[in-house]
Amino acid sequence: MILDMHCHLDLYAEPFEVARKCQELGVFVLSVTTTPKAWKVTKKLEFENSKIRTAIGLHPQVASQRIAELDLFDEILPRTKYVGEIGLDGGKDFSDSYSIQLKAFRHILSSVNKSGGKVMSIHCRHSAKAVLDELENIDGTPILHWFSGSKSELKRAISRGCYFSIGPNMLCSKKGQEILSLIPTDKILTETDGPFGKYNRKILMPWDASIANDIIADNLGFSKEEMNFLIRSNLKKLLE
Ligand code: MN
Repeated sequence: MILDMHCHLDLYAEPFEVARKCQELGVFVLSVTTTPKAWKVTKKLEFENSKIRTAIGLHPQVASQRIAELDLFDEILPRTKYVGEIGLDGGKDFSDSYSIQLKAFRHILSSVNKSGGKVMSIHCRHSAKAVLDELENIDGTPILHWFSGSKSELKRAISRGCYFSIGPNMLCSKKGQEILSLIPTDKILTETDGPFGKYNRKILMPWDASIANDIIADNLGFSKEEMNFLIRSNLKKLLE
């Protein structure tokens, strides 16, 4: 089974075609949304017998424009186990909205904590420390998507019990490969971040998460099949 633990299924040019093929291939997709308003339409891509799961999110990069949708977030939250894409973006290009991002993220985490037992896909670009600070004492399982923080932040995330979803593009850099080598193997998941995620200049499709599987296997000295078995058991444990 192919696992794409972070994908923007609704943002492909042909979302229904892509979802149909995921259903056909049995790809497990965590279909994250960038705004609460997008959830209802995106949920329609969860075809019968598919392994597509729709998460309710508010992307930090649009938090300032969409802060009014937090009420809708709270309304939808009880209907799903999955939350994402949420988080903080500490990049210089988003510094103007940082205080609003933080306000939105705190609201979301407080709601998530009250509900309990949610699985979260978290954006932590240039913000790993702040994200980990906010996650203290929150009930829920965090998955750090495309982690790029420091070694000490990574250590802290590991002791918090975070999972890590890793795409092919993350492993193009030495730093990404080093991060991978330090993550406990029982916390590794694959992702594409499609259609934003690209590899060899091509937009990644959800089933291309198998590329990540194969590169991770290669890096860690597992066979592709062993890696796939491991990732499947990690997902199973995560969803227990
Ligand atoms: Mn994303």
